Amino acid sequence: MRLVVVGAAGRMGRTLVKAIHDTQGCVLSAAIERPGSPALGQDAAALAGLPAGGVKVSDDALAAFVEAEGVLDFTTPEATVAFAGLAAQARIVHVAGTTGMEPQHLAKLEAASRHAAIIRSGNMSLGVNLLAAMVRKVAATLGTDWDIEIVEMHHRMKIDAPSGTAVLLGEAAAQGRAVELAEARVAVRDGQVGARQPGTIGFAALRGGTVIGDHRVIFAGAGERLELAHVAEDRSLFAQGAVKAALWGRGRKPGLYSMADVLGLDK
Ligand code: NAP
Repeated sequence: MRLVVVGAAGRMGRTLVKAIHDTQGCVLSAAIERPGSPALGQDAAALAGLPAGGVKVSDDALAAFVEAEGVLDFTTPEATVAFAGLAAQARIVHVAGTTGMEPQHLAKLEAASRHAAIIRSGNMSLGVNLLAAMVRKVAATLGTDWDIEIVEMHHRMKIDAPSGTAVLLGEAAAQGRAVELAEARVAVRDGQVGARQPGTIGFAALRGGTVIGDHRVIFAGAGERLELAHVAEDRSLFAQGAVKAALWGRGRKPGLYSMADVLGLDK
């Protein structure tokens, strides 16, 4: 499968180039960065720490997309919306791992998914998607006398909070309880915030060092606590998940899919 990596010089971009290199049946057909990026003209494989492969980083996304079968996109919400439009024009699979997407971004992704398959997930790993299925089940089993709190920690360079994975886990908890996360969510506490409101789903985001992604979902009851956790040890698991999603999406009818669809998990 001919795959384009957008944001190819980023932390995930380089890891994606490596994952494509390591996956039989996949080739890197182009590597894209934004206009003006210092990475333009550099060899994408060399940027990823591999022997040079001859694919130079460029800023012409549409020209790259029309020659490809899929795009792997871990960039920013604005960039992902623009790439979704181009992927729809080119009718290629779009794997969107970008987090921090607001409702207006998601609406545009939804519109683009009428023309091409888009697989979007705040976390592309098997472990986190399994964890989400467990969280949904536990939240459905326990009453609102069990408080749900989600704690995450990431590296100091991460720009959005709570993490896309924390939101994905929060959505799973909300689905289990048959409520809307937007109504139950408490993402910030600072100062005299008063006692915890029953039924809310709280988030806490820690930032520091080089942590790739730690998540813990805490169900706190009277006198006991149940905790479910995931620790990402290597960025490559997200990249491998993204490549798997692209392969799964090949030939699939247009629509907005999730990693749970790719992995065949309960939603
Ligand atoms: P990063 O190192 O900042 O990489 C993002 C790359 O995208 C940068 O090279 C950036 O270039 C480039 N970019 C931004 N706008 C662009 C545009 N319009 N056209 C082309 N390239 C553009 O960040 P990261 O750590 O790789 O994370 C990227 C995203 O993936 C974040 O949203 C993160 O939360 C998410 N993520 C998701 C998963 C998952 O499993 N779903 C896992 C890990 C990370 P400049 O630096 O020049 O702006």
